[in-house]
Amino acid sequence: MVKVVIRKPAFISMVVACVEVYKKEAFGILFGTKDRRDFVVKNCLYYQSVRRDYLGVDLDKRRDKVITYALENISTQKVLGDFHSHAGSHKGLSPADIREIKREKNPLSVLVYLNKTSKKQRWKQNRDKTISGSVGSKFYVNIAAYGYDKKKKVKKLKVVCPYIKELRGL
Ligand SMILES: [Zn+2]
Repeated sequence: MVKVVIRKPAFISMVVACVEVYKKEAFGILFGTKDRRDFVVKNCLYYQSVRRDYLGVDLDKRRDKVITYALENISTQKVLGDFHSHAGSHKGLSPADIREIKREKNPLSVLVYLNKTSKKQRWKQNRDKTISGSVGSKFYVNIAAYGYDKKKKVKKLKVVCPYIKELRGL
């Protein structure tokens, strides 16, 4: 089973970016390395200039290419895919998201779902391959990952984040 290992710096900046723009959609790219079939997400870059709305995100393709080029040439990390957030009632991928993944043949697409909450929830690994928990007692967060496979299907991948164990102690 393909795993998506999210390292601490990537987890923190991704969640903070999504909380910052709630309830608009955040969008960014994920970098790291591949470990056989597994993705190891080490960092992410959040696009602040992207025009956002509730239905989707517009991505500046040219800027994306420039950033990818620069990163791949000054580090050993590669662009693995992207992430974006959904708020409120939009929990899963939208039909537009699925079309986009197929069109771009995007190998990794992480979806961060946020909702307001008033109760603190410990971060945990869920049976449905996602991880979830709360940011203080303000936001409930669920992180899911999807991949585009050789059979041209969009599949849910297992999210693993060792850092959530540390979070429990906070
Ligand atoms: Zn979406």
